[in-house]
This record gives sequence, structure tokens and C-alpha cells, in this order.
Amino acid sequence: MDDLNSPTITLAQQLIACESITPADKGCQLIISERLQKLGFSLHPLPFEDVQNLWAIHGHQAPLFVFAGHTDVVPPGNLQDWDSPPFTPTLKGKYLYGRGAADMKGSLAAMITATERFLQRYPHHAGSLAFLITSDEEGAADHGTQHVIKYLNNQKIQIDYCVVGEPSSHHIVGDVLKHGRRGSLNCNLKIVGKQGHVAYPAKANNPIHQALLPLAKLATTEWDQGNVHFPATSLQISNIHSGTGAVNVIPGTLHCQFNLRFSNEVTPHSLIARINDILMSCDVNYSLEYKVSGVPFLTQSGLLVESCLRAIQEIQNITPTLSTTGGTSDGRFIAPTGAEVIELGPCNSTIHCVNESVNIQDLNLLSAIYERILELILVKQG
Ligand SMILES: [Zn+2]
Repeated sequence: MDDLNSPTITLAQQLIACESITPADKGCQLIISERLQKLGFSLHPLPFEDVQNLWAIHGHQAPLFVFAGHTDVVPPGNLQDWDSPPFTPTLKGKYLYGRGAADMKGSLAAMITATERFLQRYPHHAGSLAFLITSDEEGAADHGTQHVIKYLNNQKIQIDYCVVGEPSSHHIVGDVLKHGRRGSLNCNLKIVGKQGHVAYPAKANNPIHQALLPLAKLATTEWDQGNVHFPATSLQISNIHSGTGAVNVIPGTLHCQFNLRFSNEVTPHSLIARINDILMSCDVNYSLEYKVSGVPFLTQSGLLVESCLRAIQEIQNITPTLSTTGGTSDGRFIAPTGAEVIELGPCNSTIHCVNESVNIQDLNLLSAIYERILELILVKQG
């Protein structure tokens, strides 16, 4: 069988052809469900509002190993910028092109075909094997994995090991494993002044002037120095709005948004306390709203990390780097259940870009790596 016509590439193409712009699923989970049903999985669709979720499980024993992923994709943007239509899977040279090829329909296909081969070889494996799939990862992520985790908690189902198929790799598949993620804290700051004429500043209070010192302090503060697993916490100001558009008016208010990506050396609570200290020390009239969109998680050494390292070493002959960099992922909802969580997927250089693509050979290798991980975790070694 050549690389191009492998079951993994064929399935990835089927999934890419579904226009599942977040939070739409557009039939992806039906394709996945049919494959898993044939393998004897019991299916539990868990739709919630406009989101499709699927929990599918094979086996009744502990330990429980889960493949987690999402069927939704980010919008394709300007169609003219694509060399081939984003929802027409296109094989060209060494690559498969299409929206979601790398993030993460390719990984989903690799997980399914790995499972198919694994169950053919080990129909009576130890433990249980499950899929946690959502169509709400790229959007708000309120009704997706979080909703499934609530269901699992109610059913008293405990995940022991979870591989999330997010595109973690840099140059070749398996060179980077994400064994944790930073936290993310979004802040909305409003600085209140008093509107007036620029010629009469004594009768006004300029919120832009009020903001200059505290924003400079926020942007240059060292929040921590990170540690061996996490880079230092960083704050980025993403939006500032103030002014009426007229050159002779002092505005009345300023709105500013900033985000902190934080390590496990700090907490949202400690960060907010320090932000308030800075604002109060500058004597500004302000209000601050914030939302924690994820707390940091870290999977230290354990059976899952060891199995992933070993599988990649055997198949790729490389030693992966363990990393916690990058954006948030649904791992943030799964790790707090006590599960060991790893993110392992294809290369991420084209994700969310026009002409998103995945290396065909990488995807076939990824499927082999996933299969070997299943074997290392769900087959009694001896
Ligand atoms: Zn993704």
C-alpha cells in the first residue's frame, strides 16, 4: 500500500470535505461514529446547543485511555488566497491540503486507523479505549469538551490517560510533545476620566494620560521567571480604545484589553492582586473585569509520557522535546480530572493559515505512533 492511498489519508480527505467551520460539525462525527460502531464501540452523542459532541467507548475496565480531538475548523478566510478550495481535499506532492488538514482532522483520521489496526491485533486488550470528540474547540469552547467532562463526572468515569491530537510537532512528526500548557487570563480595564476641551485641561481629566504610567508598568513587570517546565509569564496588551475622533476633545473614558499567559508559579488570584496594586499605585480611577480561560496544567513523568517517548523513539528514531508553549487547548479541561494528558499531532507550521497542509508520510507515521502508544498502555507487557 502506498502512502497516498492509506486508510488514514482517505479518511482525512473525507473529513476535510465536511465544511465544519466552528462550531459546526457537518457530518464529521457521523463518519467517525460509523467507523467506531463497526469496531464495537458504544456511542454516546452529547449534543449541546449548537455543538456536536461524541463520547465513544470500548471496554469496561480501568485503565481508561482516551483519544481527544475536535472536528471544527477555523474559517478559511479569503477563498481567493487559497491555491485549491479549502474544503476540497487536494493531494499535491508530499502534502494533503485543506482547512483542518493539520488542525486536526488529520490527527482524527490517524487515531481512528490506529484504533482499527490495534483492535484487529488485540480484540481483548486490557483496560478501555475511548474517543472524546467535540465541534467546539476553535470557538468559545463552552459547550464542547467541558460538557463531556461534566457528563463523565456524573457517570463517575475517570480518564487515566489522554492523547489530544493537537498539532504539536515542529519539523517532523513527534519531535515535540506538549506535556502541559500555560494558563490564560483575559482582562478588560476601563479608565474613567472627564470629557472636556483640550484648551481647558484643568476642567477635564484625561483617561489616556492616566493610562500611560500604569500600562507601561503592566507591560514591563516581571511576573515570574518561569521554571524548567514553563516559560516566564507574559502580559500582552491587545486593544486600546479612547478618543472621540476630534482633535480638540479630551475623551471621557479609555478601554483596554490585555491577556496574560501564565506559568504554574503564579495563580490568577495572585496576578489580579498585583495588577490592582499597580493600578492603585498610579492613582487611576478604574474598573477591572477578568476571565480565566484556562489554568496551567502539567503532566510530569508517568506511563503516558514514557509510552509516547518510547513509541516515537522506536518509530521515528528521535527523542522528542517536552514543551508547554503555545496556545490553550482542550487539554486544560481534561487535565483537572486527574488524567495524564499529552498533546501529540502533526507539524503546526500551516495551522489557521491559507493553504493549510499536512505531510502525507507524517500522517501515516502518526497513525503508527498512536497504535504503538495503545499497545504500550493497553496490552499487558511480558
Ligand atoms: Zn486544534
